[in-house]
Amino acid sequence: MHRSEITIDLGAVRRNARRLLEVLEGSALWAVVKADGYGHGAVDVAGAVLAEGATALCVTTVEGGARLRREFPTARILVLGPSAGRDVALAREADLELAVWELPVPEGVRVHVKLDTGMGRWGLSELGELGSNVVGLMTHLATADSDPAFAREQLKRFDEATNAYSHLVRHAANSAAALRLPESRYDAARCGVALYGLSPFGGSPADDGLEPALRWESRLAQVKQLRAGESTGYGRRFIAEVDTWIGVVPVGYADGFRRDMTGTEVAVNGRRCQVVGTVSMDAIAVRLEEPLAVDTPVTLIGDGVFAEDHASVADTINYEVVTRIGSLPPRARRTVIDG
Ligand SMILES: *Cc1c(COP(=O)(O)O)cnc(C)c1O
Repeated sequence: MHRSEITIDLGAVRRNARRLLEVLEGSALWAVVKADGYGHGAVDVAGAVLAEGATALCVTTVEGGARLRREFPTARILVLGPSAGRDVALAREADLELAVWELPVPEGVRVHVKLDTGMGRWGLSELGELGSNVVGLMTHLATADSDPAFAREQLKRFDEATNAYSHLVRHAANSAAALRLPESRYDAARCGVALYGLSPFGGSPADDGLEPALRWESRLAQVKQLRAGESTGYGRRFIAEVDTWIGVVPVGYADGFRRDMTGTEVAVNGRRCQVVGTVSMDAIAVRLEEPLAVDTPVTLIGDGVFAEDHASVADTINYEVVTRIGSLPPRARRTVIDG
């Protein structure tokens, strides 16, 4: 039996895609499926959203794009991250499009020139000469979720730099902008987090008509009583003041239940319970109102427990919570040496 289980509801993904298409009022929906679809499974999600009318897939690496190409022979696939020389040949072979911001722009492959209008990292500060293989112009917003005034400033710069090129595909919006900044939508919006039913604003997904697609469940593997004065976990960070029932769940930070999520709540048999004591590598403890049976279901995300809730306890964002959950393929190359 697995220690925990992730269930992805593609129905929810489809409904989120439809919601975004409705909001976009004619601009295209480009689905961002990097980091294995934000931990949801890039291939499954891509298939679902293409069927709903998304018209492109966005990934971080050429290698990731080439893998998707095998599943989706005709989809438009855009690589958002940097690509070096060797990647360009592979991109050409796999019929991928590349976001680029180094001059000279590589030839023989369709590219989207990225302008830095205020994100302050990937991107050119000026467009320069555009060759015939440039099919799109793009920028990325730093504050669409938090500071719409600065986002509008970025959009103004983008508009001024690109309005002579309206025959090219122009795109600037991420999920937050697609939902709340109509002037960001241009020809296409690159939406990630919202497709998965996660709030780009860290609040309730329902506020923007979104529905979480990921459930994460485990079970109680042990139930025990701590006597007053006894503790659970490393560092004795939780000491029972009175006799206290706790349940141990076989999931920890190595599974993506971050160490700084101590204090967050999960649902045990549908009831909210607090995670107490230090999160271990492969276990957490929850405080129970009463002794429950071993194998009682525990919902870590779902049943009213939101990734946004955990993110707020851990002082991070829902993106990071879901991409860390442990069924991901490794993304850093691993080399073993015996030196
Ligand atoms: C990740 C990413 C997006 C999607 O952002 P969300 O907030 O998840 O919608 C859009 N554009 C670029 C360039 C990205 O890297």
